[in-house]
Amino acid sequence: MTMINDSAELTKLKQLSARIGADPALVQAAGGNTSIKQDGILWVKASGTWLMHAEAQDIMVPVELVPLLEAFDRDHPDVENCLSFVVEAKNPSALRPSIETTLHALIPHRVVVHVHCIETIALAVRQDAETVLKPLLSGIDWAFFPYQKPGVQLSKAIAEGITPATEVLVLGNHGLVVAAGTVEQAEKLLEETCSRLRRPARSMSQPDVEALDSAIAGTAYRIASESELHGTAFDPVNCGFAAGGSLYPDHVIFLGRGSVCAEPGEDVEAVCRRVRANGAADPVSILFPGAGAVMHQTASPGAIAMARCLADVTARIPAEATLSYLTPAQEDELINWDAEKYRQMLNATNTAATS
Ligand SMILES: [Zn+2]
Repeated sequence: MTMINDSAELTKLKQLSARIGADPALVQAAGGNTSIKQDGILWVKASGTWLMHAEAQDIMVPVELVPLLEAFDRDHPDVENCLSFVVEAKNPSALRPSIETTLHALIPHRVVVHVHCIETIALAVRQDAETVLKPLLSGIDWAFFPYQKPGVQLSKAIAEGITPATEVLVLGNHGLVVAAGTVEQAEKLLEETCSRLRRPARSMSQPDVEALDSAIAGTAYRIASESELHGTAFDPVNCGFAAGGSLYPDHVIFLGRGSVCAEPGEDVEAVCRRVRANGAADPVSILFPGAGAVMHQTASPGAIAMARCLADVTARIPAEATLSYLTPAQEDELINWDAEKYRQMLNATNTAATS
């Protein structure tokens, strides 16, 4: 008998997961997740794991689909973490299901792929997102969902807003979901959707190393070596969008609330003094407008990936667009979320293992 986790389709999903996980335009750090429904089991990415490791490591968790959906319909609290639906006998690595497991379960298609595609996010943070998306996605059965906290809250909104035919979901201030009958079809649909949403990006410049060097002297900050990450600070339009607040959940999780920008004449010491005076911890990242970005030496790979994501996203938003930002209450519910603390703990472990 062929084991279900050896099935060709599950293998194909792992291959696709590793491919999209290695593309920073689609997935950053532990973001994004994939799933497949087979014989009553939903195989879904585990919380805190990275899609790019899908072939090298065990990152898929088996979950009993029918009991999960019944509990979801009854608003049972067990669907918050879905732990009680895990098929432990087929989960040797004791993985926990993704925060977004209910989203995967409720979509009727067999294969579901959720990404934090930078092209999608650059449109999904706009106040007029739905209007702008409409002509771009014509001919595709798609739906737009304004921002909700990821997890059960978002899943409830989706459950009410999709039809069995909905194949593309754009999540406001969050990302993209595609759903299809096979892994191959899901990949095609993902490529098609992303290419339709692709917009020109303002070009990146090289950081002003001299200015940044003098700003960080004697501090625990370093000039980010990932050149793409400086684009947020370098371009005044990008910087203005970033300075407005938090644009999507993983930014808050890995970089904190909004973006900290140095004021004219401030060095790192002065910025940190100002931030501390407001009761906040030293920032993970500081933007020096016109010069570049510096990162705290303890910044995790997830934080670095999210700093790059911010540069990629803001560079694709037209200067005249008006954006939606997460409210302080929406930031709070992400920061104080136990499920996210678990994901961050795994991310910290990952840092230790790779550094
Ligand atoms: Zn997500």
